[in-house]
Amino acid sequence: MNLRTLNRHRRTFKENDMTKIAVIGLGIMGLPMAKNLVNAGHDVVGYNRSPEKAEKLAQAGGAAADSVAKAVAGAEVVITMVPDSPDVQSVVEGDDGVFAHAAQGALWIDASTIRPDVAGYLAHAAREAGLRPLDAPVSGGEQGAVDGVLSIMVGGEETDFEAAQEVLNVVGKTIVHVGPSGSGQTVKAANQLIVAGNIELLAEAVVFLEAYGVDTDAALRVLGGGLAGSKVLDQKGQKMLDRNFDPGFRLALHNKDMGIVTAAAREAGVTIPLGGLVAQLVTALVARGDGSLDHSGLFRLANELSGRDKK
Ligand code: NAP
Repeated sequence: MNLRTLNRHRRTFKENDMTKIAVIGLGIMGLPMAKNLVNAGHDVVGYNRSPEKAEKLAQAGGAAADSVAKAVAGAEVVITMVPDSPDVQSVVEGDDGVFAHAAQGALWIDASTIRPDVAGYLAHAAREAGLRPLDAPVSGGEQGAVDGVLSIMVGGEETDFEAAQEVLNVVGKTIVHVGPSGSGQTVKAANQLIVAGNIELLAEAVVFLEAYGVDTDAALRVLGGGLAGSKVLDQKGQKMLDRNFDPGFRLALHNKDMGIVTAAAREAGVTIPLGGLVAQLVTALVARGDGSLDHSGLFRLANELSGRDKK
């Protein structure tokens, strides 16, 4: 990388309040993150595969681009927020991608949840292209993205992490540098293991409580105040009681993440027996066509396994 360009870039980045930011992928998470960056006073250009989502960003005060190349032109920071490893590869690699068109010294923050080994390989390729890569997957769900309070686990160089603080602080609240490139994705894989296991046990508890006909609102209230309390219980319990499985976080994405954590655990020689079981339940829901439901939809299968209703 050209050091002079980098130093000049760092100066500009510090002196100007407004940063030019490109956001690629404006779905459930990317759009509210981009809107928060607009509201914080940044110059935000968005690109999304289906263009109507980029129009929503334009209506909120950002700008819509009709290609990755146009979105990243002149950007100091490029954020990608697309579903899976091949999606990230398709937007960063190749003649039309981020690596070919982003300015030298630009920060590339991949907020998508992808395989740690792919994140490591792409970070290497990004550095070869003169960019400063960070893998920065997030946790906190759609509401966390809307409220700008995501937890962000960041892998990459310490100096790049520091340079990204200003932008990350707009979209997140708990922002931690966890190690070199790929580490953010490893921590995120652990996050998804914990969340899936929690949701499954919450679902089983709700099935159990309903079978006994107790007041489930009251039960979840008191459970929430004790050791069983959790953000999963707070955010997903009512959805189960209401049978409201609008996403949120789609089961199809959690299926991808359980694939990531089971494969990465096997590579490390680590067994995750409960994680493996929950991964199978998530796959079963996706296989039967429930992949677009929120991951609280694990409740449906738990209910049916006990011979209860299919709603
Ligand atoms: P999403 O709603 O499906 O959004 C993904 C967006 O990426 C869609 O708008 C999609 O466009 C766009 N996209 C896909 N491929 C693209 C490409 N090649 N070029 C440009 N745009 C492309 O997914 P999401 O829920 O925002 O999740 C995004 C990432 O965040 C995933 O890795 C997920 O695991 C992670 N995550 C999600 C949550 C959550 O609660 N939702 C929480 C934490 C982390 P189309 O409209 O054309 O499909």
